[in-house]
Amino acid sequence: VFIAFEGGDGAGKSTQVHLLADALRARGREVLVTRQPGGTDLGAAIRDLVLHGDHVSPRAEALLFAADKAHHVDLVLRPALEAGQVVVTDRYTDSSVAYQGAGRDLGAGEVHDLQMWAVGSLVPDLTVVVDVDPQEGRRRRGDTHDRLESEADAFHAAIREHFLAMARGNPQRYLVVDGTAPPEDVHAQVLAALDRVTAT
Ligand code: C5P
Repeated sequence: VFIAFEGGDGAGKSTQVHLLADALRARGREVLVTRQPGGTDLGAAIRDLVLHGDHVSPRAEALLFAADKAHHVDLVLRPALEAGQVVVTDRYTDSSVAYQGAGRDLGAGEVHDLQMWAVGSLVPDLTVVVDVDPQEGRRRRGDTHDRLESEADAFHAAIREHFLAMARGNPQRYLVVDGTAPPEDVHAQVLAALDRVTAT
């Protein structure tokens, strides 16, 4: 079973990733928690280059994030899924479609195709969009840590809209949760959605 958490910066994804992993482990499942960009040594180097380097051209940014995913899926995600583990990832292909495709204006369709090629069309069973408005996200993050978090609110608003549009387009596979709701309530919604998806 493969679950991805997506959403804007400061939405509370990481909290939900860990609550879900703990709940699944309590049920006796073996769980792999990972993140993108940065889930492998190569990915960590790419993450550092893109987020902390000087200017990176938008197409180069899209290709570097795609390379991170290709490597991560081949080395980590597919083997874990084949071994029967539950994989929970903090960001996956939709982040690239939203940030590089919609946010950077490279075209969501093109970036989606690039991402699907990179991951060999490995799609999550459930994608949870943790939704938060950009001002709230910015307030929660406090000081910005990297080049991309400090983009204008309009950039983050375009990204948010794109996550919501992807979710509307495929309600079977997506769950949208309110990132400002109490974490335990959000977690309960995630567990319920996962039980629904895995029961089908
Ligand atoms: O959520 P996380 O800390 O992993 O995100 C790191 C940064 O990378 C964030 O600023 C996020 O906006 C950005 N990002 C991006 N494109 C992606 C994935 C993450 O711009 N495909």
